[in-house]
Amino acid sequence: MRYPALPIGKNSKDAAERLRIVKETLGISHEHITSHSFKAEAASRNIENFVGVAQVPLGIVGPLRVRGRHARGSFYIPMATTEGALLATVNRGCSVVTESGGAECLVLRDEMTRAPVFRVDGIRHGQEVSSWVASNMQRLKRETGRTTSHGKLLSATPYLSGRNLFIRFSFETGDAMGMNMATIASQRMCDLIEKETGAKTISVSGNMCTDKKAAAVNFIQGRGKSVAAEALIPEDVVRERLHSTSGLVAEAAVRKNLIGSAMALSAGFNSHFANMAAALFIATGQDAAQVVEASMGMTTAEETERGLYISVFIPALEVGTVGGGTSLPTQQEALSIMGCAGSGKARKFAEIAAAVILAGELSTLAAQSKGELAKAHSALAR
Ligand code: NAP
Repeated sequence: MRYPALPIGKNSKDAAERLRIVKETLGISHEHITSHSFKAEAASRNIENFVGVAQVPLGIVGPLRVRGRHARGSFYIPMATTEGALLATVNRGCSVVTESGGAECLVLRDEMTRAPVFRVDGIRHGQEVSSWVASNMQRLKRETGRTTSHGKLLSATPYLSGRNLFIRFSFETGDAMGMNMATIASQRMCDLIEKETGAKTISVSGNMCTDKKAAAVNFIQGRGKSVAAEALIPEDVVRERLHSTSGLVAEAAVRKNLIGSAMALSAGFNSHFANMAAALFIATGQDAAQVVEASMGMTTAEETERGLYISVFIPALEVGTVGGGTSLPTQQEALSIMGCAGSGKARKFAEIAAAVILAGELSTLAAQSKGELAKAHSALAR
């Protein structure tokens, strides 16, 4: 079969022409891919070769009570997934957390990173370049300011290995997740560093950033928003609503989340952060590939005199409420459901995300502590 080349233009006519060619070549139609409420032009900054949409079922869980610094009150949360039973378990967790007084949530740190790699002459030159960077931070901050009004350079940490110098730049990025912002600013600083020190930029992204790959540096130093959430679930609520006990949930958390993850040398010391993160990311226009980072983190559970203490720590939640996919119409609507669309909302959204992840962890851990995971999936998803 001959596969004709597809036109690469960005407007609706180009999209229709691409579809016509695919239809004629393959002899199949695609009525669902082409059923959407916005024009190709609305997605022109988000995708090339556009032809339509991949519809993912979207549901709403909640209400979930959140006691954060930026998110305070009760929220409905939109989540998009194809995994049956996921929203049922998160919804149960939301209801239990809310009945218990809500989730305390905090943004502990908020910095986006980019780490270019430079070729230097040797370790002495590498150290000289690092010293130049340290003594020229004000100049580098001014360079960043020439590329963005919301992005601010916070720090620049050098890592040297032989003739490879990595500078891990860290930025405040306002309400944007910040990856484009950080990359554009970093390129500008690379150009200056090259000119002033003779170091040669090999790549503006040298993988010490680290974007879209599992990496200890993100767990330890944080990337995007480092967030935490906790709740105390009274013992009678654990028994009546979760059909378990604090002791059983705490034991499952240690044996599964801590020892099991250590045995597997996994950085995900949790039950399923990635599930809640992916469903929230897809619903709200976050970069889905960054679920890799959001899957890392720790869930702890303890039996106390007053009931079950449960917490989550998510060191690298890379989210925004401005820019990227957040400006698409469906995703804007989803953010609006939580009052999180647009400027001034990114930390609020991060706190809500932490609370949802906590709710999902609570419900699933409780189910596993009573051997109910397979039962729920066979009842709801088969
Ligand atoms: P962006 O859409 O590229 O930039 C955000 C824009 O929003 C900037 O133009 C900024 O203006 C403006 N803005 C307005 N109000 C703002 C506010 N309150 N806070 C922050 N910015 C505000 O988004 P981004 O977050 O930097 O990048 C996200 C995109 O990068 C996603 O599509 C993601 O898939 C992609 N991505 C890129 C790379 C890469 O290497 N380039 C890597 C991974 C992902 P000013 O800049 O003038 O302040």
